[in-house]
Amino acid sequence: MKAIVLKPNRDKSVKRFHPWVFSGAIEEVKGSPGLGDVVEVYSYKSDFLGLAAYSPNSQIRARFWTFFQKENIDKSYFARVIDKAIENRLSRGFDVFDKTAGFRLINGENDFIPGCIVDKYGEVISVEILSAGAEVNREIIFQLLKEKTNCKGIYERSDSAVRKKEGLPIRSGLVYGEIPDKVSIEENGILFSIDIKNGHKTGYYLDQRDARKKIGELSKGKTVLNCFCYTGGFGLFALKGGAKKVYQVDVSKDALKLAKEGIVNNKLPTAFATHVEADVFTYLRKLRDKGETFDLIVLDPPKFVESKDNLEKGSRGYKDINLLAMKLLAEGGILATFSCSGLMEMDLFQKIIADAAVDAKKQIQIIDRFYQPSDHPVNTAFPEGSYLKGLLLQVV
Ligand code: SAH
Repeated sequence: MKAIVLKPNRDKSVKRFHPWVFSGAIEEVKGSPGLGDVVEVYSYKSDFLGLAAYSPNSQIRARFWTFFQKENIDKSYFARVIDKAIENRLSRGFDVFDKTAGFRLINGENDFIPGCIVDKYGEVISVEILSAGAEVNREIIFQLLKEKTNCKGIYERSDSAVRKKEGLPIRSGLVYGEIPDKVSIEENGILFSIDIKNGHKTGYYLDQRDARKKIGELSKGKTVLNCFCYTGGFGLFALKGGAKKVYQVDVSKDALKLAKEGIVNNKLPTAFATHVEADVFTYLRKLRDKGETFDLIVLDPPKFVESKDNLEKGSRGYKDINLLAMKLLAEGGILATFSCSGLMEMDLFQKIIADAAVDAKKQIQIIDRFYQPSDHPVNTAFPEGSYLKGLLLQVV
């Protein structure tokens, strides 16, 4: 029998269905489990706590499949949880057979396949595997996704550096069927052309869908500065919503190319858009020095906080760009500001924004908050799953 026994009092979070066991919580490992093997997990007092996938090289030494009973973690387990995820998505308005929709079908731990991200883009699927347990079951998962979604192709984007922590190699490539170089999805009336093979993560940031829509609604007649624009989503919605000028800013040439194509594909007024290849930290300073102002600014940066050790440094990064953006806001201007760092909690983010407002010498009100949408659910037991947060602010 392969099993792990936890140290005294280290079963508390597990009993609350938290899906991770850290290496420091383990008293004893029995039966020499290998990478991704199923282990039974016991408390120090020998209570059965559930079944988990073992990851010998990771700080997160085991990730739970189930807390309830002993069962085989085989095709029938994955079929059950994938069916459940598909059903849940349908009940939230995301249909797996919709040929133009883009949404997250499996959200890792929150959908009971730890470390497995599955995004559906139109008729194809993009998968990112980040844990040993999902890795050893990848063929089964791919087979089930093919059977249950009728998709035309599956592409694997397991090329994130975090795989190294799990002792897994970087892998990216076609798994099944065909994947066009550009896949088109429709998001609230705007077409996005997605590069699954070379784009960021699984190809696109589905998690900002609701926020992008909101920005469209706020943009009529406004000058908009969209920082960290990637495929230009916020800017496309702003143009559709009647913005009179949109600046799309990103450090990546490839991203700006996609953003430009997006304007043409959606028949939006190209003359109203300016694409700027620049580092946002430098560019905001340049705009400040020139005395420019904007009615609406979007700050949607990459993850600044990668680990607990760089929470302070990441916080300084958030404060810096927010302070600069606040200085650029016109009278009554709006700032939509985001953090996708799981370790940056909303409370701390709000404090950073408050500090930035003090330094900018502006009175700023919070008028709305953003979190990830319902295709990126967060289990109550797993607050780490709640990574995306944003504030809609207005200068008064
Ligand atoms: N807002 C986008 C997603 C942003 S992802 C959307 O709605 O889909 C973050 C983007 O920031 C990436 O495109 C990346 O190229 C860009 N980026 C990262 N660091 C940057 C920097 N210092 N300056 C400008 N862009 C940066």
